[in-house]
Amino acid sequence: MIAVSTFKGKKVALFGLGGSGLATAQALVAGGAEVTAWDDNPDSVAKAGEAGVPTANLHGIDWRAFSAFVLSPGVPLTHPKPHWTVDLAHAAGVEIIGDVELFVRERRAQAPDCPFIAITGTNGKSTTTALIAHILKESGRDTQLGGNIGTAVLTLDPPKAGRFYVVECSSYQIDLAPTLNPTAGILLNLTPDHLDRHGTMQHYADIKERLVAGSGTAIVGVDDSFSALIADRVERAGTKVVRISRRHVLADGIHADGSRILEAHGGTSRLFVDLDGIQTLRGGHNAQNAAAAIAACLAVGVSEDEISEGLKSFPGLKHRMQPVGRKGAVVFVNDSKATNADAAAPALSSYERIYWIAGGLPKEGGITSLSPFFPKIVKAYLIGEAAPAFAATLGEAVPYEISGTLEKAVAHAAADAEGDGKGASAVMLSPACASFDQYKNFEIRGDAFVTHVKALQGVTMLI
Ligand code: ADP
Repeated sequence: MIAVSTFKGKKVALFGLGGSGLATAQALVAGGAEVTAWDDNPDSVAKAGEAGVPTANLHGIDWRAFSAFVLSPGVPLTHPKPHWTVDLAHAAGVEIIGDVELFVRERRAQAPDCPFIAITGTNGKSTTTALIAHILKESGRDTQLGGNIGTAVLTLDPPKAGRFYVVECSSYQIDLAPTLNPTAGILLNLTPDHLDRHGTMQHYADIKERLVAGSGTAIVGVDDSFSALIADRVERAGTKVVRISRRHVLADGIHADGSRILEAHGGTSRLFVDLDGIQTLRGGHNAQNAAAAIAACLAVGVSEDEISEGLKSFPGLKHRMQPVGRKGAVVFVNDSKATNADAAAPALSSYERIYWIAGGLPKEGGITSLSPFFPKIVKAYLIGEAAPAFAATLGEAVPYEISGTLEKAVAHAAADAEGDGKGASAVMLSPACASFDQYKNFEIRGDAFVTHVKALQGVTMLI
């Protein structure tokens, strides 16, 4: 745990005691802050009390005594409207910050030179974060991985010289981190997302911009217009910018040509690494993630050979286009994280000859937007509540069966793929649906897929 010493002896209010909130409260208490924590959920308050965190209702108390208000990133700061605690903090002139800001201040106080890579973007954050941490760890560096990826940043080991931090940041966390100053900051891409919580696309982009604006080296994916403008603006303000692209040739920066990642200087480019054959980094979206990881690792002094080695041994992230098993020419791919059509598109674009397992709890729009990929689908195996609607969309364009359950879908798809004799193919769970009709969450659905694959005769598991 990182004991937060920067509020030692000071009064701090905290709201939001689920997950990272409780860890943050404990880190403040451990560092000697006088914490007053609260949550709307009485169970969370009780749990915090048992964990040694002082709790009290933040309604009806004098806020002027607080040095800071620490807000959980899940609680609305601005949209759709500020949470009542935010209004009280503003009225009392108390600054509002989150756990990433506490980490940033602690690093500044304890070990300001320890390398810190922060990652944001609409898509690909977790993959890029995990990839960078993997490269660093494989090269023997003391590496801490956390943030939005699932490990609360203040539960990591404390900052010290030579220790590397790789921290995934959601827009909510950036919004609560006014002095965020990573050694290298990555903005992968920007497409509309979470606008209910950010109001407009411009406001969402402005928040994401802050991560790279405060960076020693700003690494920016310039394939969308919002990010491209941000790269220009941050550069004009005097920050070193490394542009990355999966779509365009760059005069300076790191760009992809298919699976080939090239490094360009002054209009001349050279091959840095070819991702061809790295199963866990298939697809154009992963070329963008790899380019960003390469730029970040170079910025913190990792050698070219160390980076190439790390890329080659990346195990991938669970449930995200993860190759889990192989039988002859058939690879079994778990992409359970694809809970809507947009999220399923990268997986469908990354394989040819697909035996596609889809369905679950349908989302608005269904799978109509995936029709450009239909020619690659040899057959679809439909499960869950969405099956009839998906069948109607596939119509005559794609052969399908209504399998109903994942177990049947896996068995049927495996048998069909094995028997087709036409070369490499993928049996892929990329459901384009939420899981809640049949599974508690996408992780459990993905694990069930793996279990069913394991149960097949003659499959070599890759995980
Ligand atoms: P995030 O953490 O931003 O949600 P993940 O790394 O968990 O992103 O990837 C989630 C899904 O988003 C992947 O399964 C893939 O479908 C898609 N994806 C990953 N990287 C990118 C990218 N660079 N651009 C667009 N889509 C991506």
